[in-house]
Amino acid sequence: MSSGPAPLSADAIRRAMGGPPARRSRVPALLTTGVVLVALLLAVTWWARSYGPLAGPARGFEERGVPLGLPPLVSTSTGSYAFLQTQDDGTGPVAWSPCRPIHWVLRPDGAPAGGDALLTAAFADVAAATGLTFVADGATDEGPRADREAFQPDRYGRRWAPVLVAWSDPGEHPDLAGTVAGSAGGTSVVGDGYAVYVSGQLVLDAPQLAELLTSPNGSAVARAVVTHELAHVVGMAHVDDPGQLMHPTADVRQTALGPGDREGLALLGAGRCAPHL
Ligand SMILES: [Zn+2]
Repeated sequence: MSSGPAPLSADAIRRAMGGPPARRSRVPALLTTGVVLVALLLAVTWWARSYGPLAGPARGFEERGVPLGLPPLVSTSTGSYAFLQTQDDGTGPVAWSPCRPIHWVLRPDGAPAGGDALLTAAFADVAAATGLTFVADGATDEGPRADREAFQPDRYGRRWAPVLVAWSDPGEHPDLAGTVAGSAGGTSVVGDGYAVYVSGQLVLDAPQLAELLTSPNGSAVARAVVTHELAHVVGMAHVDDPGQLMHPTADVRQTALGPGDREGLALLGAGRCAPHL
């Protein structure tokens, strides 16, 4: 190994030739570094939102280790009930996680006088019959849609979109055409092979319910309509038994939850926790 003379730098050559060292500004280098860092940050943010940890709702948002409430003990009845969805493996109905609150928002536009009282009563009925906890998040300007997204981060943040309760009419929401006073259901997702409701929508025909409220026994019937729709949101389906609130009819005589309704709702309040969703 032999070592030759150390190579001279450009500045050393300049000094040797009597010239001043070159004056290099650090500003361009800093600017370049800054631009690269910002680009890197944008790329990582884009990746995280598209495919990474920010791509979906925060997992287990507000989920506790145990149910927040329990359904009441209901003796097996002769009343009938049915579920909108059941688990693929036949282990039971698709339900909400009882270990987190079910948030809901209200689009109040066009609400009939007494509309808030109807909602309060219906939510109380279904909460009592299921043990599920409902939390009112207040007003929204979101309108109902047949293909409503269950995750709307720009509007509701990184959680599943709350249940939308909207007063509407057939012009805006065609499902309400004819004598249909309401339309509702939940949106489920599957995690670890088990389906869970994570969002939903409840749309009420405001003009029709407003008219109903002015009729004799109208408030009891209107309350039954709203409770029926909310029962759809938690997973109940229609039955042929006219002794149940889930019997679909334009001529509502049954204005309270029947024994089959109560049995089905109690089962829907006893779903599995879903910390992974
Ligand atoms: Zn129905």
